[in-house]
Amino acid sequence: MGDVHRVIAIDKLRNRLQKLQQRDMYRRRRIVGGPQGRTLIVDGRRLLNFCSNDYLGLAGDERIRDAFKAGVDEWGVGAGASHLVCGHTVAHERLEEALAEFTGRPRALLFSSGYAANLGAINALLGIPDHVFEDRLNHASLLDGGWISRARFHWFEHRDMRDLEAQLADSDHRRLIVSDGTFSMDGDLCRLDELVDVARRHQAWVMIDDAHGFGVHGKNGCGLVDPDKYDTTDVPLLMATLGKGIGTVGAFIAGDEVFIETLIQRARNYIYTTALPSAVAVATLRSLEIVVAEEWRRERLLELVRRFRDGAKGLGFDLLHSETPIQPMLIGDPGRAVALSASLEERGMFVTAIRPPTVPIGTSRLRITLTAAHETEDIDRLLEALDDAGRVADRE
Ligand SMILES: *Cc1c(COP(=O)(O)O)cnc(C)c1O
Repeated sequence: MGDVHRVIAIDKLRNRLQKLQQRDMYRRRRIVGGPQGRTLIVDGRRLLNFCSNDYLGLAGDERIRDAFKAGVDEWGVGAGASHLVCGHTVAHERLEEALAEFTGRPRALLFSSGYAANLGAINALLGIPDHVFEDRLNHASLLDGGWISRARFHWFEHRDMRDLEAQLADSDHRRLIVSDGTFSMDGDLCRLDELVDVARRHQAWVMIDDAHGFGVHGKNGCGLVDPDKYDTTDVPLLMATLGKGIGTVGAFIAGDEVFIETLIQRARNYIYTTALPSAVAVATLRSLEIVVAEEWRRERLLELVRRFRDGAKGLGFDLLHSETPIQPMLIGDPGRAVALSASLEERGMFVTAIRPPTVPIGTSRLRITLTAAHETEDIDRLLEALDDAGRVADRE
């Protein structure tokens, strides 16, 4: 008798998993057998890689690997403790200074991931009487940060500044507007000029998550929030990850002293977690040098994006409007998106299907990402495979 309730609870979990399978919403991890790059070994087979966020092709770069190894020789592996105990090293400090300079902000603060940075920052800055305003398509970590802060949560329609403004009634409480810079599943950009303007008129703070723009666009790869155009009054909180364009791991928040010090005192995801390995900071510093110096990576990306979009026009897919390396093709039904992804894989292309809840219901898609590691003929091969796979799917 005593165990009945526990058994029933487990049955319910099992039913939930089965339902996910029936609705084509079950997620499976693919096992990759080598470093990130133009191709990937997936479950033992080499495929062209069109789903990584390693936009500049740096995750496997020899020079960054060497810097990482030298960092391990100098610092060992584990940081040993949190930043506020004894885990904060000269290497972390140097990287924070470099990130602050690169983003044109007085200070930058390292977090172990973008997910942690977003949760920690929003939760540290807002509380019960405050308000948070989020674009409907914001990344899950920004939404979760808003929810756990217990501030009043307001959605605004995707990139709709009128809808935002209509909700931004003036208030004595803190108000934070939060948006992806480049939307991770759609590839479009937030309307930063207008957003900054609306925020100024209503005395609200702005937080931009530039996870997919940092390193990838802007002058020297500084991202969407160009320091010559937007100062810390315009965008007090700038977040970016290091695990995408930069090719390592971790994330940071950049801003004025008072914000960064507040995060150090109050961001639970900063305080109660072990610091990143110092070797990661060493490798990331090396990567930043390469990101600035090798403009050709950003130029190559733009060329590849153009080539892909030109070629994809005639294929009969619903290609979303995006100028960034994220090129989603809207499919709609999750089963169909998964089938197309499998069909592309048979043709040697690795493109994952993105389904709810990552994207809204009815908008399952193939999320194609291009990187500076691709050759032009890779794009042509992808277009051919899409053409083939699309025709087969239409016949079925
Ligand atoms: C990937 C991503 C994050 C999370 O960053 P991690 O460093 O991978 O945890 C946050 N925001 C956006 C928009 C992202 O795409």
